[in-house]
Amino acid sequence: MTELIRVDGLRKSFGATPVLNGIDFGVDAGSVTAVIGPSGSGKTTLLRSLNALDVPDAGVIRVADETIDFAGTYSKADIARYRSQSGFVFQSHNLFPHKTVLENIIEGPVVVQRRPVRDATEDARTLLASVGLADRGDAYPSELSGGQQQRVGIVRAVALNPKVLLLDEPTSALDPELVGDVLRVIVDLAAQGWTMVVVTHEIGFARQVSDQVLFIDGGVVVEHGAPADVIDHPQHDRTAAFLRRLT
Ligand code: ADP
Repeated sequence: MTELIRVDGLRKSFGATPVLNGIDFGVDAGSVTAVIGPSGSGKTTLLRSLNALDVPDAGVIRVADETIDFAGTYSKADIARYRSQSGFVFQSHNLFPHKTVLENIIEGPVVVQRRPVRDATEDARTLLASVGLADRGDAYPSELSGGQQQRVGIVRAVALNPKVLLLDEPTSALDPELVGDVLRVIVDLAAQGWTMVVVTHEIGFARQVSDQVLFIDGGVVVEHGAPADVIDHPQHDRTAAFLRRLT
């Protein structure tokens, strides 16, 4: 298996507060990693570090073709190349309210990747159809349900054709009846072979879709492995206690 992501010794503090205390893991190409753990354990900070939305204090991280030693020296251009390896899906979609759905999706491909508007729009329409939103391209985000907005948020990340998709609790801001549609889109992407890292509280979903589960607590990986092991047969008391609290 080729590793598409490798993280060694990732540390991050906010001010005097250490949040990530030495995180190591790898992600195989074409696999899905679910990151689970208590609130405040550092899951989102970990995910944001993979896209340099949060800049680690230390750690060597490779995402696809780009490696940065965050304890060493690196340039803005290095960070830009590192960031371009992954697409980030936010907890609440972060769509531009004054742009239509299609305009939101083609913004990155056109502005960042300098793709022709016509090509980018054609691809955006195909992607929208694939998530059941073929007829919503000209709508504004406020005219969509939360679940539809989040599907657009996923399409917007996919449209940049990154090597890796990073999804930060993609369903946690949604009403329960809208969660299923968004999870189905993620399951479809997994079936298409996308490499993904998903922070999630949906343990059933993690069991269904992931190849690897990372249980994070106190800014360290307490336990990792196949979902059948970590979720169904946790080796550590902290993992077991966390899973018990969810049920
Ligand atoms: P999780 O995703 O597991 O809930 P987070 O990574 O969001 O955890 O947060 C871990 C800790 O880091 C929390 O205590 C949170 O308050 C703190 N934190 C996260 N982002 C910031 C920030 N930008 N500034 C200061 N503290 C932060």
